[in-house]
Amino acid sequence: MSNPLSDRINSLPASQTLAMAAKARELREEGKNIIGLSLGEPDFNTPEFIKTAAIKAINENYNSYSPVNGYGELREAICQKFKRDNNLTYNPNQIVVSTGAKQSIANVAQVLLNPGDEVLLPAPYWVSYSAIAILSEATIVEIPSSIETDFKITPEQLEAAITPKTKMIFFNSPNNPSGTVFTEEEFRALAKVLEKYPNIFILSDEIYEHINYGTPNFSFAEIENMYDRTITVNGVAKAFAMTGWRIGYIGAPEWIAKACTKMQGQITSGANCIAQRATITALDAPVSEIQYMVDEFHARRDLILNLLGKIKGFKTNVPQGAFYVFPDVSYYFGKTIKGKTINGASDFAMLLLEEANVATVTGDAFGAPDCIRISYAASQDNIKEAINRIATLLA
Ligand code: GLU
Repeated sequence: MSNPLSDRINSLPASQTLAMAAKARELREEGKNIIGLSLGEPDFNTPEFIKTAAIKAINENYNSYSPVNGYGELREAICQKFKRDNNLTYNPNQIVVSTGAKQSIANVAQVLLNPGDEVLLPAPYWVSYSAIAILSEATIVEIPSSIETDFKITPEQLEAAITPKTKMIFFNSPNNPSGTVFTEEEFRALAKVLEKYPNIFILSDEIYEHINYGTPNFSFAEIENMYDRTITVNGVAKAFAMTGWRIGYIGAPEWIAKACTKMQGQITSGANCIAQRATITALDAPVSEIQYMVDEFHARRDLILNLLGKIKGFKTNVPQGAFYVFPDVSYYFGKTIKGKTINGASDFAMLLLEEANVATVTGDAFGAPDCIRISYAASQDNIKEAINRIATLLA
């Protein structure tokens, strides 16, 4: 039999972030001392008070299906969080809790996109946005940016990318992979363009909102007349070191929330009940509870920028949030190192893995082929050792 898999899966690229993490794991099992700077995953333990809430939920026999869109109490807590942190007013019917922000985004794409619709992706963008849009049979339209503009697109670029087929745009601030944070002013300038095109929906992924080193976070839905067509995505994975708990959520116009609930009801049902109960406790806590993690990420950002700054050919911006640096390494393209010719960012990331035993992710996966992504969600010792290995290899 020739390949019996569907065209859908055959044409879907594998997640490069997860693939690199898997490759690093494999090499480690072979006995190699790999330092993993590929995955965007806090290396902290989930805070004690959240773990205690989960244990309590188990002992209280939370074991049944939850409502598909999440427990009412959790959706209430999410509304309060949106009010407190984002100045956004949602009611619980506008909230859908899902198995990670990834599922939240997939739900939105599935319920809004038709084959042939165009989705605008300001590049660089998180790897799964494009794959999720492609699964909905939409067409991706990238809007490029570069390190020279701190990876920000301009209103003129946005306007030029819009066609009658444009259905949605993805914003992500703080950004994975660049760490860029859009200011209120910058978002308002982009909204001015979108005002002229009332049929375009905005997906604003704010999963890194608390990992922010100064520029105040601004939620796109805060902009008057954007609220009714913006889907705000968030979750607890990054801020509370709860990646494996898999809880994401949206705040959206009620008709979109209803459609997402219908979609989810046929695919996964409600998210894990214990994780939902723990999330109520996480969101009710003051943000100051997680400041120690943010402070540590900040110190690591400064450390890694300082170390990378000493290596020839690494051009970096100063990321204002998230836990990634996204250096432009195109200086090395065309060069041969350890007998290997570097034809692009993928070759470069592979060289770092094979010759320095450091796992990173190629910028190709993020729509930025001159760059590689380095996650600094790792201990300062590991960061020092990894960058030292890279420096030695390239010297
Ligand atoms: N969002 C994280 C990353 O970009 C986790 C892995 C993934 O789901 O892509 O590394």
